[in-house]
Amino acid sequence: MYKTVLFFITFFYCTVGIPQHNIKVIHTGNMGVYITDGESSVLIDGLHEEYGPDYLFPTPEIVTKISSTYRPNAILFTHKHGDHFSEKLSKNYLKSNTKALIFGANQITQNFQEFKERVYTITTKNYQKQPHSFESIKITGVKIDHAGKRHRTIENVGYLIDFDNTKILHVGDTDWLEEINLFPRLHLTKESIDIAIVPYWMLLRKDATELLKKHINPKYCIATHISPRISQNDLQELKRKHPNIYFLTALEQQIQL
Ligand SMILES: [Zn+2]
Repeated sequence: MYKTVLFFITFFYCTVGIPQHNIKVIHTGNMGVYITDGESSVLIDGLHEEYGPDYLFPTPEIVTKISSTYRPNAILFTHKHGDHFSEKLSKNYLKSNTKALIFGANQITQNFQEFKERVYTITTKNYQKQPHSFESIKITGVKIDHAGKRHRTIENVGYLIDFDNTKILHVGDTDWLEEINLFPRLHLTKESIDIAIVPYWMLLRKDATELLKKHINPKYCIATHISPRISQNDLQELKRKHPNIYFLTALEQQIQL
């Protein structure tokens, strides 16, 4: 009897979606994610203001929650566009959380000199990975070009977040950009990435599944930057094509992995 009970308990834990990584991801709007392993936490592209009807943004209530409840150890920004970043909200956050750090390209951090040694600038001169360790996490920034020719001067940075036993990639506003051979230059498959957070348009290509495997090879993938005005048909079609991918479409939507 004891053995049977043990068997069923083991079976239950192994099969019924008990989180393997102890990682919680909370959507804060557009590409914004708060990520925690229960000990350390980061917020990526999570402080921005209303930008237009195609972009979810954190409501004042969520901004307050970020500052008083979630309190990420570091706020990270992929680039300076208004659907990813607000200088005002970021400064407010750093003022009220006096140990928190900020990461970004120079186009972001040049406006934060008053916060001195809490500011980490990721250079975008080349594709060199730039690791920084603090407490129990390692944050590595790397240039990942912004999608679209008209945004060529925008410095976009991707982040690899190394929690204790989980590695997470957030790529910001990029695309496959084969014309500049982007992903082969980043050598991401050798990073053993557990969770990749990408803009949904990277999944629209017919060969998206192959590209994801060839260039990133994550265990899990989370799609973001989804317009609140997307038609239910288009969303269902995407979900049908990618049954193993999580789609962040609602504020404070949570994923546990
Ligand atoms: Zn952008």
